[in-house]
Amino acid sequence: MFSKIDLPFKPEDVSEFMDTETVNIHYNKHHQGYLDKLNITVLENQPELFQYDLLEVLTRLPSMVRPEIQMAVYNNGFQVVNHNMFWESLSPNESYPSIEMMNLIVKYFGNLDIFFTQITEKAMGQFGSGWVFLTVDNSGRLSVESTSNGDNPIMLGRTPMLTIDIWEHAYYLRYQNRRNEFIAQVLKFLNWERVLEIYKSTIK
Ligand code: MN
Repeated sequence: MFSKIDLPFKPEDVSEFMDTETVNIHYNKHHQGYLDKLNITVLENQPELFQYDLLEVLTRLPSMVRPEIQMAVYNNGFQVVNHNMFWESLSPNESYPSIEMMNLIVKYFGNLDIFFTQITEKAMGQFGSGWVFLTVDNSGRLSVESTSNGDNPIMLGRTPMLTIDIWEHAYYLRYQNRRNEFIAQVLKFLNWERVLEIYKSTIK
């Protein structure tokens, strides 16, 4: 069976930017729901897929997964992967990029404010449910991009370094329709060490 990551913090530890009830429902119901649907679909139709890494299955979907379950595996599988990265992108403490991380931000965006503005604009411009990502391409170039539903830029050849969930279930209880306020709060609490770690393991 596929699995999801353990929540890397206690729900109450991130209450400055996400309320405890939202974290509990999000991790235990939404994230878990995608995982359960993925596992049931694979178990009932093609259990041999469990021997592979989930991301490998998703990026090689047409050749590995039977056509009749490709859509279910794609949608639920990427929602599992995206939520894993979302939880890892967050820090319980207010945080600021290291000098090494900041140099990358300055190189590709100009400064931290411009970078945050790009994330906010992409998040606000995404109609309906989706995700906003910081990605790195094969040449090491960083970009901000948004996707719909469960889509992930890895399918376009770019590796996500951080992501923010912009489905309404991620913020509605506390922020209602104010997605911009949710984004502004989350941007103060990013796990920059993890972001840089992913960059370094991608760009070798
Ligand atoms: Mn979500």
